[in-house]
Amino acid sequence: MRKYNMPERINTEVFIAMAKALDFIDPDKLSMTVVLTAMNRFLNEDNGLQMAFLDGNQPDRLCKPMKDYIEERGGKVLTKKRLKEIVVNEDGSVKHFSLADGEVVVADEYVSAMPVDIMKRFVPKKWSAMPFFRQMDELEGIPVINLHMWFDKKLKNVDHLCFSRSPLLSVYADMSTTCKEYYDEEKSMLELVFAPCSPIAGGNVNWIKKSNEEIIEVCTRGLRN
Ligand SMILES: Cc1cc2nc3c(=O)[nH]c(=O)nc-3n(C[C@H](O)[C@H](O)[C@H](O)COP(=O)(O)OP(=O)(O)OC[C@H]3O[C@@H](n4cnc5c(N)ncnc54)[C@H](O)[C@@H]3O)c2cc1C
Repeated sequence: MRKYNMPERINTEVFIAMAKALDFIDPDKLSMTVVLTAMNRFLNEDNGLQMAFLDGNQPDRLCKPMKDYIEERGGKVLTKKRLKEIVVNEDGSVKHFSLADGEVVVADEYVSAMPVDIMKRFVPKKWSAMPFFRQMDELEGIPVINLHMWFDKKLKNVDHLCFSRSPLLSVYADMSTTCKEYYDEEKSMLELVFAPCSPIAGGNVNWIKKSNEEIIEVCTRGLRN
């Protein structure tokens, strides 16, 4: 951007908020492909910039319908079943999954949807040199802190997701206005993403180690500004 003499204003007014909303990191740490692809969609697609909120909490309004769908078709959803090891055969195919509680799971197909940083630790030795799995070397998770702040009064707000340009906040919303389950005309409930929250994510301070009080304090200051 600087190379092509684009005004710094575009960075401070648009790119910071977009990069932090899309990937929870500042634009100088992120490939511009991410921001430009999103921008292209916002500009070129009808409804490309529509935001929607679930009408309630995720376990009840998102996870439960998915669980019901699976169970109605004869499937089972097991929780608190941590994977310990992907055990493979001599030819590299999966023999079974070993779970932390000692259970062994044999299946027709095995799919992992674990976060990439965790999946990297589970890749069996036999797979580690395969190009498909080597692609994960380039991927890194970004830690963020999620805050829920309950107020005893209604704050001035908008009925929308807010994109912050402040150094420590990403997206946030007043759920007492945007979400049916938390709707309240007297009291606000803010849900905020605090990012970047550690040096791994490009920040200067490891906020994950700080107390709740310190995090709330700096976050409230960010909102006031
Ligand atoms: C604060 C925050 C706000 C966000 N807001 C939005 C939003 O408004 N809209 C949106 O679309 N996206 C949002 N996202 C992004 C979205 O949440 C993620 O993209 C999405 O959850 C990724 O889903 P996933 O299933 O790939 O991973 P995850 O949701 O991270 O699921 C991975 C699962 O793997 C499990 N796991 C880990 N280790 C093991 C193990 N050893 N054995 C078995 N299981 C294991 C974990 O328990 C977890 O359930 C937000 C993310 C954050 C952090």
